Amino acid sequence: MSNTDFALAVEDLTVSFDGFKAIDSLNLYIDNNELRVIIGPNGAGKTTLLDLICGKTRASEGSIKFQNIELTKMAEHQRVRLGIGRKFQTPSIYENLSVFQNLEVSFPRGRSVFGALAFRCDEEVSERVRSVAGEIGLLERLQDEAGLLSHGQKQWLEIGMLLMQEPKLLMLDEPIAGMSARERELTAELLQRISRNRAVIVIEHDMDFVKQIAHKVTVMHQGKILAEGPMERVQSDPRVIDVYLGH
Ligand code: ADP
Ligand code: MG
Repeated sequence: MSNTDFALAVEDLTVSFDGFKAIDSLNLYIDNNELRVIIGPNGAGKTTLLDLICGKTRASEGSIKFQNIELTKMAEHQRVRLGIGRKFQTPSIYENLSVFQNLEVSFPRGRSVFGALAFRCDEEVSERVRSVAGEIGLLERLQDEAGLLSHGQKQWLEIGMLLMQEPKLLMLDEPIAGMSARERELTAELLQRISRNRAVIVIEHDMDFVKQIAHKVTVMHQGKILAEGPMERVQSDPRVIDVYLGH
């Protein structure tokens, strides 16, 4: 398989913080329309890996190719424009705006071929807002202030704000932390729907949730990949039990 067949190909990726390698010669390949879950103990480098892919942190060495385009020298906003979306652990929605307005402001702008701010008719934006709101289960809440939403609904709204940009790769860091059992179920369904049209990388600790959604699981430890494969195989791997699942 050549690298062009992957949505994301990470090779020999290393980042050092004062000599400490938080990511150490890591290789990772994600297929198109794959939902990959990354697990591993605290400090394994999971969040740092997402930081490197989205451009929040610069790599010391190695390559990150997204649809065969090298990312490592690109600024964060350029990567966003290429179709990389990243959800951080704490939601960053506008609490005082309505759900509709939160989605509306996330509609991508300035992509006109003439270099001018692209003109979008209200109807096009509004249609997209409604379609995304339907996908994240907030169609009935469009006119409500975002601050009034439950914790889980705020998380979905932020996912929706990313979906407004139609990312080709969506990365989520511990998306179900603090959610109710019902919200977790709905989030599992949401992530499965979302990954039909794009690659998704999820960092998560909740093993029941991981089992429910993962196509393949990657286990990280000390900046490296310890194991990778279907959940059943990874779960019974003695090295994985030793450093992570056994605790
Ligand atoms: P995880 O998300 O798997 O819990 P992190 O990626 O947050 O792990 O952290 C991996 C290691 O890198 C930790 O030891 C952390 O302290 C260190 N680290 C992360 N970011 C920085 C930074 N900007 N400067 C120095 N050390 C960092
Ligand atoms: Mg983390």
